[in-house]
Amino acid sequence: MTPNQKPKQSKNVRYDSNSIAMKPGSLVMYIDMNSYFASCEQQFRPELRGKPIGVTTYDSPHAAVIAPSIEAKKFGVKTGMRLSDCKLLCPHIIPVTTRPYLYRIVHVEIMRILQSYCIDVLAKSIDEAVINLSSYRLVYKDFVELAKKIKNDIYNKYDYIKCSIGIAPNSFLAKLATELQKPDGLVQITPENIDHHLATLKLTDLPGIAGRNERRLKMIGIDNPLQMRHASQALLRKAFGGIVGYYWHCRLNFSEVDLYSRSQTRTMSTMRTVSREQSASKQTLESLLVSLCTRLEQRMVKQGLFCREASFFIKYRSKTGWDTSIRFAQPVQDALELRKYILERIHEFEQSHNVGTMFSNQVQSMGVAIQNFMDDSALQYSLFDNRIQQDVVRKTMYTLKDKYGKNIVRKGSELFNPTVMKDAIGFGSVKDLLLVGDDVTNQYLLEEDY
Ligand SMILES: [Mg+2]
Repeated sequence: MTPNQKPKQSKNVRYDSNSIAMKPGSLVMYIDMNSYFASCEQQFRPELRGKPIGVTTYDSPHAAVIAPSIEAKKFGVKTGMRLSDCKLLCPHIIPVTTRPYLYRIVHVEIMRILQSYCIDVLAKSIDEAVINLSSYRLVYKDFVELAKKIKNDIYNKYDYIKCSIGIAPNSFLAKLATELQKPDGLVQITPENIDHHLATLKLTDLPGIAGRNERRLKMIGIDNPLQMRHASQALLRKAFGGIVGYYWHCRLNFSEVDLYSRSQTRTMSTMRTVSREQSASKQTLESLLVSLCTRLEQRMVKQGLFCREASFFIKYRSKTGWDTSIRFAQPVQDALELRKYILERIHEFEQSHNVGTMFSNQVQSMGVAIQNFMDDSALQYSLFDNRIQQDVVRKTMYTLKDKYGKNIVRKGSELFNPTVMKDAIGFGSVKDLLLVGDDVTNQYLLEEDY
């Protein structure tokens, strides 16, 4: 969308009948733990119960609160705020430093409970899981009752940790249902009540619709989720520019496009042409490399992918160039990690060939490509990495960017400010905690980090 294109008027909207039939019998339950890290702390430290607490990545007034407790949220404290800013809203907020091993232990126990009712359980993150109950129609007559049973099982194990459960014909709507009632919610979205629920929501209440997407929709005259659901496929395709519009049509009309279908991405690449002014400064060249890596990171986060290989090229005005390919021991998603590996290769070459800096004033272009992707649901933790809090911090960062615009939160790497950087390094997944029989595949993750 170029800045010259003018918003179109609402009257252009056409409402067509739905062309996608709901798959008969599909049923998904989504479980979202409420204020998860904070509730875990309150579970194991009863003195914190009923109090506004903020779980932070490290002990400093500048640390970001990655999880406010339900009590702190009542004061307006939100995930991602600096502790110093939280104190303006909630002077008595109690900072608590994160204990990821604890959240993993609880995660595993909750997964055990879910798996006792259905084999088709997928952990979406440390505090969210989706259960595909489509083939359990004859096993459970009443899925609201089943949800209550699950809540009760969790209560019996951890009385202070609450969850919101959503039930719907597809995973998107089931997740949306968890957003409708918090904390301790239980909402079922059905073909009969969906319009009633959507009528109470703004576009940005839909997971995945933030600033940019909201603007796209409003530009073609769709102002709310109800209009969006009844808009034609063609109109949504126009709003989102193709297949993405089709997916939105499916999501709001009961078809499943999120649970099992993810198109296989083979390669992602990005490159920059460097002006003479830019190549005059080594630091500018190095920050261009950071921005290339960051762009790839954003795309990987969006698609839930990690890469196992990367290549880097640099071209000079003399028409010469250099390139290198790297295979990672651990899948990589983090821009700083990607940059680190590339810089290592560059320094290796500089030293072994006794050339000066590769980032000379003759650089004409640079590019990074990544490939050999793996889905974050298949990611294995390395034994000693502590990646869960990094996972949350990065997701939070991207959520904030989506919501308030790209520049509201910037990575440390983008600012070259090491104190900010600490909050945003790394990313991970919980999938190594998958249960195999009664055993957790990686027991080390349940032990305290030192
Ligand atoms: Mg949650």
